[in-house]
Amino acid sequence: MQNKRAYRGRFAPSPTGPLHFGSLAAAVASYLQARVNRGRWLVRIEDIDPPREVPGAAGRQVETLAEFGMVPDAPVAYQSRSRSLHERAIDRLRAAGLAYDCGCSRRDLPPSGVYPGTCRAGIPAGKSARSIRFRVPETPVELADRVFGASLHRLEADCGDFVIRRADGLIAYQLAVVVDDIEAGITEVVRGSDLLDSSPRQQALYKAMQAPVPRWMHLPLIVDRTGAKLSKSTHADPVEKNAPAAALALALRALGHRPPAGLRGLESLWKWALVNWDPARIPRDPFEL
Ligand code: GLU
Repeated sequence: MQNKRAYRGRFAPSPTGPLHFGSLAAAVASYLQARVNRGRWLVRIEDIDPPREVPGAAGRQVETLAEFGMVPDAPVAYQSRSRSLHERAIDRLRAAGLAYDCGCSRRDLPPSGVYPGTCRAGIPAGKSARSIRFRVPETPVELADRVFGASLHRLEADCGDFVIRRADGLIAYQLAVVVDDIEAGITEVVRGSDLLDSSPRQQALYKAMQAPVPRWMHLPLIVDRTGAKLSKSTHADPVEKNAPAAALALALRALGHRPPAGLRGLESLWKWALVNWDPARIPRDPFEL
Protein backbone atom coordinates (compact mmCIF):
# COMPACT_ATOMS: atom_id res chain seq x y z
CA MET A 1 0.00 0.00 0.00
CA GLN A 2 2.70 2.49 0.97
CA ASN A 3 4.36 2.27 -2.43
CA LYS A 4 1.37 3.98 -4.01
CA ARG A 5 1.72 6.97 -1.74
CA ALA A 6 3.69 9.92 -3.10
CA TYR A 7 7.23 9.90 -1.69
CA ARG A 8 7.69 11.96 1.46
CA GLY A 9 10.96 11.96 3.28
CA ARG A 10 12.29 13.90 6.23
CA PHE A 11 15.29 14.92 8.28
CA ALA A 12 14.52 15.05 11.99
CA PRO A 13 17.40 16.38 14.10
CA SER A 14 17.19 16.86 17.85
CA PRO A 15 18.31 20.38 18.79
CA THR A 16 21.09 19.18 21.08
CA GLY A 17 23.92 21.02 19.30
CA PRO A 18 25.13 22.14 15.89
CA LEU A 19 24.88 19.67 12.98
CA HIS A 20 27.91 17.42 12.90
CA PHE A 21 29.14 15.42 9.95
CA GLY A 22 26.99 12.37 10.80
CA SER A 23 23.83 14.42 10.77
CA LEU A 24 24.93 16.12 7.54
CA ALA A 25 25.21 12.70 5.86
CA ALA A 26 21.67 11.84 7.04
CA ALA A 27 20.35 15.15 5.77
CA VAL A 28 22.05 14.69 2.38
CA ALA A 29 20.83 11.10 1.91
CA SER A 30 17.24 11.91 2.91
CA TYR A 31 17.25 15.00 0.70
CA LEU A 32 18.58 13.13 -2.35
CA GLN A 33 16.14 10.25 -1.86
CA ALA A 34 13.24 12.73 -1.81
CA ARG A 35 14.52 14.58 -4.86
CA VAL A 36 15.24 11.56 -7.05
CA ASN A 37 11.88 10.05 -6.13
CA ARG A 38 10.22 13.35 -7.06
CA GLY A 39 8.85 13.59 -3.57
CA ARG A 40 8.82 16.15 -0.80
CA TRP A 41 11.52 16.65 1.77
CA LEU A 42 10.50 17.84 5.23
CA VAL A 43 12.45 18.97 8.27
CA ARG A 44 11.22 18.38 11.78
CA ILE A 45 13.06 19.62 14.85
CA GLU A 46 12.64 16.99 17.56
CA ASP A 47 12.48 19.32 20.53
CA ILE A 48 10.59 17.24 23.06
CA ASP A 49 13.37 16.73 25.55
CA PRO A 50 14.02 20.18 27.05
CA PRO A 51 16.77 18.98 29.43
CA ARG A 52 18.87 17.91 26.40
CA GLU A 53 18.10 20.94 24.28
CA VAL A 54 20.74 23.59 23.54
CA PRO A 55 19.24 27.08 23.15
CA GLY A 56 19.59 28.37 19.59
CA ALA A 57 20.60 24.96 18.18
CA ALA A 58 17.40 24.42 16.18
CA GLY A 59 17.72 27.72 14.34
CA ARG A 60 21.40 27.06 13.61
CA GLN A 61 20.62 23.59 12.25
CA VAL A 62 18.02 24.99 9.85
CA GLU A 63 20.44 27.73 8.76
CA THR A 64 23.22 25.22 8.19
CA LEU A 65 20.93 23.10 5.99
CA ALA A 66 20.09 26.21 3.95
CA GLU A 67 23.79 27.06 3.58
CA PHE A 68 24.21 23.64 2.00
CA GLY A 69 21.28 24.32 -0.33
CA MET A 70 18.84 22.00 1.46
CA VAL A 71 15.59 23.88 1.88
CA PRO A 72 12.53 21.89 3.00
CA ASP A 73 9.34 21.79 0.93
CA ALA A 74 7.18 22.90 3.86
CA PRO A 75 7.74 25.11 6.90
CA VAL A 76 10.00 23.47 9.48
CA ALA A 77 7.92 21.45 11.96
CA TYR A 78 8.59 21.47 15.71
CA GLN A 79 7.78 18.25 17.49
CA SER A 80 6.97 20.04 20.76
CA ARG A 81 3.88 21.44 19.06
CA SER A 82 2.33 18.02 18.50
CA ARG A 83 2.06 17.09 22.17
CA SER A 84 -1.75 16.72 21.93
CA LEU A 85 -1.34 14.31 18.99
CA HIS A 86 1.09 12.27 21.06
CA GLU A 87 -1.30 12.19 24.02
CA ARG A 88 -4.19 11.13 21.80
CA ALA A 89 -2.13 8.32 20.32
CA ILE A 90 -1.28 7.12 23.83
CA ASP A 91 -4.97 7.28 24.83
CA ARG A 92 -5.92 5.20 21.80
CA LEU A 93 -3.23 2.60 22.50
CA ARG A 94 -4.40 2.42 26.08
CA ALA A 95 -8.04 2.05 25.05
CA ALA A 96 -7.02 -0.81 22.75
CA GLY A 97 -5.21 -2.53 25.63
CA LEU A 98 -1.85 -1.92 23.95
CA ALA A 99 -0.43 0.46 26.55
CA TYR A 100 -0.51 0.45 30.33
CA ASP A 101 0.65 2.35 33.40
CA CYS A 102 3.88 1.17 34.95
CA GLY A 103 5.07 1.80 38.50
CA CYS A 104 8.62 0.50 38.05
CA SER A 105 11.68 2.66 38.30
CA ARG A 106 15.02 1.92 36.68
CA ARG A 107 16.12 0.21 39.90
CA ASP A 108 13.34 -2.37 39.48
CA LEU A 109 14.65 -3.51 36.09
CA PRO A 110 16.96 -6.49 35.67
CA PRO A 111 20.56 -5.71 34.60
CA SER A 112 19.70 -6.69 31.01
CA GLY A 113 17.35 -3.70 30.86
CA VAL A 114 14.68 -5.95 29.29
CA TYR A 115 11.37 -5.09 30.93
CA PRO A 116 9.94 -8.28 32.45
CA GLY A 117 6.30 -7.15 32.25
CA THR A 118 5.89 -6.55 35.98
CA CYS A 119 2.97 -4.11 35.60
CA ARG A 120 1.33 -5.73 32.56
CA ALA A 121 -1.60 -6.98 34.60
CA GLY A 122 -1.71 -3.96 36.93
CA ILE A 123 0.62 -2.02 39.20
CA PRO A 124 1.65 -4.11 42.24
CA ALA A 125 0.42 -2.91 45.63
CA GLY A 126 2.61 -0.23 47.15
CA LYS A 127 3.63 1.27 43.82
CA SER A 128 2.03 4.04 41.83
CA ALA A 129 1.97 4.92 38.13
CA ARG A 130 5.17 6.53 36.84
CA SER A 131 5.45 5.86 33.15
CA ILE A 132 3.33 4.37 30.36
CA ARG A 133 4.57 1.37 28.44
CA PHE A 134 3.66 -0.11 25.05
CA ARG A 135 2.77 -3.78 25.11
CA VAL A 136 5.07 -5.34 22.50
CA PRO A 137 3.64 -7.98 20.15
CA GLU A 138 4.43 -11.66 20.67
CA THR A 139 4.94 -12.15 16.96
CA PRO A 140 8.42 -11.28 15.69
CA VAL A 141 8.94 -8.03 13.82
CA GLU A 142 10.32 -8.45 10.31
CA LEU A 143 12.34 -5.47 9.31
CA ALA A 144 13.45 -4.75 5.76
CA ASP A 145 16.14 -2.11 5.51
CA ARG A 146 17.39 -0.87 2.16
CA VAL A 147 21.01 -0.82 3.30
CA PHE A 148 21.18 -3.35 6.14
CA GLY A 149 18.81 -5.92 4.64
CA ALA A 150 16.19 -8.10 6.32
CA SER A 151 16.18 -8.99 9.99
CA LEU A 152 13.83 -10.59 12.51
CA HIS A 153 13.31 -9.17 16.01
CA ARG A 154 11.62 -10.57 19.09
CA LEU A 155 10.79 -7.48 21.07
CA GLU A 156 9.75 -9.43 24.16
CA ALA A 157 13.31 -10.75 24.41
CA ASP A 158 15.11 -7.70 23.02
CA CYS A 159 13.60 -4.94 25.13
CA GLY A 160 10.20 -6.00 26.49
CA ASP A 161 7.33 -3.53 26.80
CA PHE A 162 8.93 -0.14 26.30
CA VAL A 163 8.23 3.32 27.69
CA ILE A 164 6.15 5.68 25.55
CA ARG A 165 5.58 8.30 28.24
CA ARG A 166 8.43 8.82 30.63
CA ALA A 167 8.25 9.10 34.40
CA ASP A 168 9.15 12.80 34.07
CA GLY A 169 5.99 13.27 31.97
CA LEU A 170 7.88 13.75 28.69
CA ILE A 171 6.84 11.79 25.61
CA ALA A 172 9.39 9.15 24.65
CA TYR A 173 11.23 9.48 21.34
CA GLN A 174 9.89 6.12 20.05
CA LEU A 175 6.27 7.25 20.29
CA ALA A 176 6.75 10.85 19.17
CA VAL A 177 8.77 9.99 16.05
CA VAL A 178 6.19 7.45 14.88
CA VAL A 179 3.15 9.67 15.54
CA ASP A 180 4.77 12.62 13.76
CA ASP A 181 5.96 10.57 10.79
CA ILE A 182 2.45 9.13 10.39
CA GLU A 183 0.95 12.62 10.62
CA ALA A 184 3.40 13.94 8.00
CA GLY A 185 2.71 10.97 5.67
CA ILE A 186 6.38 9.94 5.61
CA THR A 187 6.90 7.03 3.20
CA GLU A 188 10.60 6.43 3.82
CA VAL A 189 12.70 7.01 6.93
CA VAL A 190 16.36 7.72 6.12
CA ARG A 191 18.68 8.15 9.13
CA GLY A 192 21.85 6.97 10.81
CA SER A 193 22.26 3.34 11.76
CA ASP A 194 22.60 4.33 15.42
CA LEU A 195 18.77 4.23 15.24
CA LEU A 196 18.55 0.86 13.49
CA ASP A 197 17.84 -0.77 16.87
CA SER A 198 14.83 1.47 17.37
CA SER A 199 13.17 0.58 14.07
CA PRO A 200 11.63 -2.77 15.14
CA ARG A 201 10.00 -1.00 18.11
CA GLN A 202 8.78 1.75 15.84
CA GLN A 203 7.47 -0.72 13.28
CA ALA A 204 5.46 -2.42 16.05
CA LEU A 205 3.98 0.97 16.93
CA TYR A 206 3.00 1.61 13.30
CA LYS A 207 1.19 -1.73 13.25
CA ALA A 208 -0.51 -1.03 16.58
CA MET A 209 -1.69 2.31 15.21
CA GLN A 210 -2.80 0.60 11.99
CA ALA A 211 -0.70 2.95 9.91
CA PRO A 212 1.31 2.00 6.80
CA VAL A 213 4.90 1.20 7.73
CA PRO A 214 7.45 3.42 5.93
CA ARG A 215 10.45 2.00 4.14
CA TRP A 216 13.58 2.02 6.24
CA MET A 217 17.01 3.13 5.10
CA HIS A 218 19.78 3.34 7.66
CA LEU A 219 23.11 4.92 6.83
CA PRO A 220 26.60 3.84 7.83
CA LEU A 221 27.91 5.28 11.06
CA ILE A 222 30.47 8.02 10.79
CA VAL A 223 33.33 7.40 13.19
CA ASP A 224 36.46 9.26 14.14
CA ARG A 225 39.96 7.80 13.86
CA THR A 226 39.62 5.97 17.14
CA GLY A 227 36.44 4.26 15.87
CA ALA A 228 34.20 6.31 18.18
CA LYS A 229 30.86 7.42 16.81
CA LEU A 230 30.56 11.13 16.14
CA SER A 231 28.05 12.80 18.33
CA LYS A 232 27.46 16.20 19.74
CA SER A 233 28.91 15.01 23.03
CA THR A 234 32.22 13.73 21.59
CA HIS A 235 34.04 16.79 20.18
CA ALA A 236 32.53 16.24 16.67
CA ASP A 237 33.29 19.36 14.68
CA PRO A 238 30.17 21.20 13.68
CA VAL A 239 29.87 21.21 9.87
CA GLU A 240 28.87 24.85 9.86
CA LYS A 241 32.52 25.76 10.36
CA ASN A 242 33.66 23.91 7.24
CA ALA A 243 33.45 24.95 3.62
CA PRO A 244 30.08 23.51 2.57
CA ALA A 245 31.20 22.17 -0.83
CA ALA A 246 34.06 20.15 0.69
CA ALA A 247 31.76 18.84 3.42
CA LEU A 248 29.10 17.85 0.87
CA ALA A 249 31.68 16.01 -1.26
CA LEU A 250 32.86 14.15 1.84
CA ALA A 251 29.27 13.29 2.86
CA LEU A 252 28.70 11.83 -0.61
CA ARG A 253 31.85 9.75 -0.22
CA ALA A 254 30.67 8.51 3.17
CA LEU A 255 27.49 7.44 1.36
CA GLY A 256 29.47 5.38 -1.17
CA HIS A 257 29.53 7.93 -3.99
CA ARG A 258 32.59 9.33 -5.75
CA PRO A 259 32.03 12.84 -7.01
CA PRO A 260 34.79 13.75 -9.53
CA ALA A 261 37.60 15.75 -7.93
CA GLY A 262 37.08 18.61 -10.40
CA LEU A 263 33.64 19.47 -9.00
CA ARG A 264 34.24 22.23 -6.50
CA GLY A 265 31.09 24.27 -6.11
CA LEU A 266 27.96 23.30 -4.18
CA GLU A 267 25.77 23.69 -7.24
CA SER A 268 27.82 21.41 -9.47
CA LEU A 269 28.08 18.83 -6.68
CA TRP A 270 24.31 18.75 -6.21
CA LYS A 271 23.82 18.47 -9.97
CA TRP A 272 26.21 15.54 -10.10
CA ALA A 273 24.61 13.93 -7.04
CA LEU A 274 21.07 14.20 -8.41
CA VAL A 275 22.10 12.37 -11.57
CA ASN A 276 24.36 9.80 -9.93
CA TRP A 277 22.59 9.08 -6.63
CA ASP A 278 22.17 5.34 -6.16
CA PRO A 279 21.17 3.99 -2.71
CA ALA A 280 22.53 0.57 -3.72
CA ARG A 281 26.01 2.06 -3.35
CA ILE A 282 25.60 2.98 0.29
CA PRO A 283 27.95 0.79 2.33
CA ARG A 284 27.15 -0.81 5.68
CA ASP A 285 30.62 -0.29 7.05
CA PRO A 286 31.32 2.72 9.21
CA PHE A 287 32.98 5.60 7.41
CA GLU A 288 36.11 6.87 9.10
CA LEU A 289 36.39 10.62 9.04
N1 GLU B 1 15.87 13.13 16.44
C1 GLU B 1 16.68 11.96 16.26
C2 GLU B 1 18.14 12.33 16.37
O1 GLU B 1 18.53 13.47 16.13
C3 GLU B 1 16.50 11.31 14.91
C4 GLU B 1 15.14 10.81 14.73
C5 GLU B 1 14.94 10.02 13.45
O2 GLU B 1 15.52 10.33 12.41
O3 GLU B 1 14.14 9.10 13.52
O4 GLU B 1 18.93 11.48 16.69
